[in-house]
Amino acid sequence: MAGIYLHIPFCASFCTYCGFYSEVCPRQGTHTRYIEALGGEIALRRDYFKGQGVVKTLYFGGGTPSLLSPDEFRTIRDMLAASFDLGAVEEFTVEVNPEDVATCSGLLPALKEAGVNRISMGVQSFCDRHLRWMNRRHCAATAIEAFKKLREADFDNISIDLIFGFAGLEDKQWLDTLKRATGLAPEHISAYQMSIDPESTLAEQAAQGKYAEPDDEICAHQYAMLQEELEKAGYEQYEVSNFCRPGRHSRHNSAYWDRTAYLGLGPAAHSFDGNDLRQWNPSSLEEYCSALEAGNLPKGGEEHLTPDDIYNERIMLGLRTSRGVEKSLITDQGILEKAGERFRIPRDKFFICDSIIEDYLR
Ligand code: SF4
Repeated sequence: MAGIYLHIPFCASFCTYCGFYSEVCPRQGTHTRYIEALGGEIALRRDYFKGQGVVKTLYFGGGTPSLLSPDEFRTIRDMLAASFDLGAVEEFTVEVNPEDVATCSGLLPALKEAGVNRISMGVQSFCDRHLRWMNRRHCAATAIEAFKKLREADFDNISIDLIFGFAGLEDKQWLDTLKRATGLAPEHISAYQMSIDPESTLAEQAAQGKYAEPDDEICAHQYAMLQEELEKAGYEQYEVSNFCRPGRHSRHNSAYWDRTAYLGLGPAAHSFDGNDLRQWNPSSLEEYCSALEAGNLPKGGEEHLTPDDIYNERIMLGLRTSRGVEKSLITDQGILEKAGERFRIPRDKFFICDSIIEDYLR
């Protein structure tokens, strides 16, 4: 089994908290140049899985894949299909921005036609004041309208992202966001605690004393509210930040956590051979395009994992999931609970999982 991740490095504006690699407001023609370069990388990497892995999941992330025009989207899908056997793909996810879904009429039919069967939409909050502070392009009403449009277009596997644990978020506002999210009944919800990414505008604000993170107890309480509300609404928690209706977990992300091979295409994308080699592309659209225009793969970086690195990855990734890790990996059970033949972090300790995991690393 294998997966392909494809990075679309464009955003119409930058969100306050975000540190992902992306270019803001691309000039006219930038997509065309990028898509041609991407075609070059796809062709040069066509043997990446060397016949060992069947591609089961596709994931277009970013950046903002929904900024692509329907034609651009079709072109990329066709380039992938020309180099990889996509006949066994079970899950094809595309990240979308609510504003694009609400305003671009051709987008959803193009996604459907290309075989996209899962949508991940960045909602983040249902409070307009907080959305403005995050510099998101949409408001709460647009997110709800976009969700309805996705349903009308027959998408039956939708994930929405939410954010908690930022200064100014009161418990009652977080509860309101959780209730409105579950009210829409998406198949999947990812919820992340706001952190200060060093590449983000928020990091600048923090350095200037204009932003301070809330206390840990506040964040822990909001995390407990998240777990409680989603459980009440029938969602299973299958990872620290991920909740789903039964059977609707993200296959693509679950494969990352199981250390399955994946190929990452586009600037800043990471690849993993399923064994001990991790590679990444440079975080620069210019470097990426210039290399491929000269017929070469862009020079990023690579890391060969030692047996200890591999062990630590299995612990770090496995213990963040509700399945946990095989018993044989653990010598001292400590705070972990037994789940069949596996050990896992008790659900009420997920909030402090990072400090627990540290105790099990080599
Ligand atoms: S959160 Fe998404 S839309 Fe916002 S800047 Fe980051 S990649 Fe772009």
